[in-house]
Amino acid sequence: NSFAELGLAEPILKALAEASHETPTPIQAQAVPHVLAGHDLIGIAQTGTGKTAAFALPILHHIATERRRPERRSARVLVLSPTRELSGQILDSFRLYGRHVRPTTALAIGGVPLGRQARAMMAGVDVLVATPGRLVDLVENNAVRLDLVEMFVLDEADQMLDMGFIHAIRAIVAKLPKVRRNLFFSATMPKEIEKLASALLTDPVRVAV
Ligand code: AMP
Repeated sequence: NSFAELGLAEPILKALAEASHETPTPIQAQAVPHVLAGHDLIGIAQTGTGKTAAFALPILHHIATERRRPERRSARVLVLSPTRELSGQILDSFRLYGRHVRPTTALAIGGVPLGRQARAMMAGVDVLVATPGRLVDLVENNAVRLDLVEMFVLDEADQMLDMGFIHAIRAIVAKLPKVRRNLFFSATMPKEIEKLASALLTDPVRVAV
């Protein structure tokens, strides 16, 4: 029951040790091997379970082991989250666990001038963390293109639907390439969320804590 046994790359193991994360939480232990194996995933987990690292760690492994320069205005990994606060925390996690992988990152959230975020996306990034409304604005302004996304994360899907983001999510997903990897997290799985998950994911593995 160690991070090394999950199969994560050395620079990530080093960052975990430096962050004093000694053992994987249950969602991490269950989810990480499936994501490393390339499967789509539905994770049913609340905040506080370590779900952010459950997706950030295997994504950083992907970045570390398949290095390529992102295309202009593109993101290799897109993480959608419902709020500015959560988006900032997710980005902080990528920076913390990725301190020896050093992915390029950007945040696309409301309340910050659009032009500044557009400039931050000019060269392209490894990881873009966004709230749905702002990302739609950036895509409509041709500041971001989504057709080269390799991995797509939808975090707190139930909260996203409660906040009325379903149209924005559908508009974003329509711009993603058909072949991509998907990670879907929600605290609860009512019918509506199951429907969204089955529309987005391909043959997903399901883990619940
Ligand atoms: P989350 O559920 O993603 O919001 O994470 C909750 C908190 O748990 C965060 O503050 C993390 O820093 C911490 N955390 C995540 N994974 C571990 C771990 N394996 N060991 C210790 N702390 C962790």
